[in-house]
This record gives sequence, C-alpha cells and structure tokens, in this order.
Amino acid sequence: MEKITFYDTTMRDGEQTIGVNFSIEDKVQIAKALENYGISAIEAGFPAASDQDYEGVQQVSLAVKNASVVGLARMVRKDIDAVIKSTQSAQHPMIHIFIATSPIHREYKLHMTKKEIINKVIEEVTYTKQFMNEIVFSPEDATRTEYHFLAEIIQVAIDCGATMINLPDTVGYTTPEEYGEMFDYLKSHVKNFDQVRWSTHTHNDLGMATANALAGIAHGATEIQGTINGIGERAGNVDIIEAAAAIHVRKQKFDKQTMISLKQSKKISDMVSSKTNMPIADNKPVTGRNAFAHESGIHQDGYLKRPETYEILSPESVGATASLPLGKLSGSHAIMVKLSEMGYSISRDDMAYILPIFKKIAEKTNIVSDDEIKKMMQNFWSEKVVKNV
Ligand SMILES: [Zn+2]
Repeated sequence: MEKITFYDTTMRDGEQTIGVNFSIEDKVQIAKALENYGISAIEAGFPAASDQDYEGVQQVSLAVKNASVVGLARMVRKDIDAVIKSTQSAQHPMIHIFIATSPIHREYKLHMTKKEIINKVIEEVTYTKQFMNEIVFSPEDATRTEYHFLAEIIQVAIDCGATMINLPDTVGYTTPEEYGEMFDYLKSHVKNFDQVRWSTHTHNDLGMATANALAGIAHGATEIQGTINGIGERAGNVDIIEAAAAIHVRKQKFDKQTMISLKQSKKISDMVSSKTNMPIADNKPVTGRNAFAHESGIHQDGYLKRPETYEILSPESVGATASLPLGKLSGSHAIMVKLSEMGYSISRDDMAYILPIFKKIAEKTNIVSDDEIKKMMQNFWSEKVVKNV
C-alpha cells in the first residue's frame, strides 16, 4: 500500500488563528509530540516575520531528529535567507516558498503580471537551491488560478529545483471533485509530475477541508498539509487527526496507509487545545467528547450487543474512551448494564418497575448522573421492602 505522509503547519498556519501565540517552549514541546505522532515535516514558523518566529524555527530544528523542519518564505531574498539560517541545525531542513498566482491576487495584491511572477520564481527558486535541497513550492490561491498558468509556473519551479509541489486552496473555495480534477490536469500537463512529490493544503471555510484533502490524495498527492485540531487562518485547515483516521478506517477504499500513531490522537489534540486555549467542540470528529458516546436506546442496545453496529473506529485506537451516557432515550438494556457495573443486581421484573422512574428523572436532568442513580436505587429498595412487608 502506498504511504501518505503528513506535513504539519500547526505552528505556522495554525498560529495565524486569532488569539494563538506559541512560546518557544510550546513550539519545542509540540514539535516533539508531532514527531512521535508520525508527522513527516513540521513547519515551525515564518522566520522573517519576527525574532520569536526565527528562534522558534531554530529551537525546533535542534529538537527534532527524524522529521523535516520547515520554515515559510515569500519569494523574497530576506525571507529565504532567514529560513536557510534558522533551519541550519536541522537534520532535515526544508523551505516552503510561495507566491500568489490567481488573477485576483496578481492584480490587487501583488500588482504583478504572469511573466513577472514566473521570473521571480526562476530567480528565487534557483537562488534557494544553492543552499537547500528540499524545496516546497506553493502557488498561493492555486484553486482560483487558471489551469494553464498553474501548470506553467509549476513546471518552472520544478525545473529550478522544487522537490515538492503544494496546491493550496487558500480561501477554502474548492470542492472535492474540482480539486481532484486539478491534480488530474497537472498530471497530464506537467512533464515531470512523478519526479516530485505533491501535497494538499485545504482550508475549511465551507466545511470541505477534509473531503478536499482526501480527494487530493485520491488524485496523485502523497502528502497532506494540515494542523492539529484543524486550527488556522479563519475557519482553519484540515485536521490531520481527522484525515489520518479517515484513511485508517477506509484503507481498502483509498488503498493507502499512513505512518501516524493514531493511538496518540487524543493526547496530542488535548495538548494543542490547552496550549492554544481553544476547547474542542463536543461533536468534533474523533477527538470530541461525544465522538464515541451513544445516547439513544436503540444505539446503546446495538452497541452493547456488538460495538461495530454503531462504531466505525474504536475509541481505544485513537486514545479515547467510549461512553453510554444515560438519558431519556436510553433503554432497559443499557440501564441494566450500568446498574450491574455499579454493583446492583436486579431482575427483569425489577427493571420493569425502575424504567419509568428512571425516565422521569431523565426528563428533568437530561443526563442521569451516578449520584442520581444511587438515590433512585435507595428509594427503589426501601419501597420494595415496604411492599414485601
Ligand atoms: Zn493556509
């Protein structure tokens, strides 16, 4: 099976989240956790942006042993030099160099013609290649760029020494089908498509970041750029944890595998959540508090008979735990299991009596706590004793 690798940008694109600012110690800790998680490349910052970013990339370069350490640069000499210097001590230094290519960015942001942009790529990628072997090139806003210009500029970048081409859906605009088509077009219009590696970079503005990244790998990309918990500019990036879980669960369909140690998903998600002060939504796939919780009676009954009836991914495999919270929709099967876990042994006749009492409590309290169950059972026993007398 083909291996899909992950390129993490939690500390660069992720740090562009409003209110998120990692200290250098945070960056080193996160980088080590990412490396253990099986991430292949760690984008640790934008060294030319600030002294702190520069030092962050430098410290991560010293701390990381197996993964590539990447710094971001515009097609600007001082940005490139800052990446070359700050990643000097990395075992596997890498640069991510980008320039916008879409008509709207060319006209209103860069004020550059296509020819000028191409010349810039030739100049700066050729310059960079003297110092760095691993060069990721991103045509920013690729998904809103004319296909023929995209193919032309990518060809130039490869000819000048780029080793990986990343296709950013900078504004979260594309759809899975369209993103796949873009890779197909480039496969047939870029001469040496197979000589370089291709990666996805998808934003979640329309909730399609994960679907788009997976479409990219189904159409020729072998690496997914993303972040932990999907943090990032505006609505964020694809969540690496979700994408890795999807490839794991549907490996037959994708015919691909990853090197991600999925068991550490919950732990690394919690770590980034606490360092960014961004709580995880209860219904977040894989890492949310409710991701493995079953409340309805029909689901709880099926789950207790065989978890796979309602579970496609085991909570243990991602370092989470299953839960069957008891509420008004729960049935006697789940309630009996819970009571026996709490040490009560009751008959089916008892249960017929308990169920309506339980439902009344649940209607008032939503999720019934262990304390409420204990209280309910005390009342039940004392009434039973009175009746028997
Ligand atoms: Zn981005």
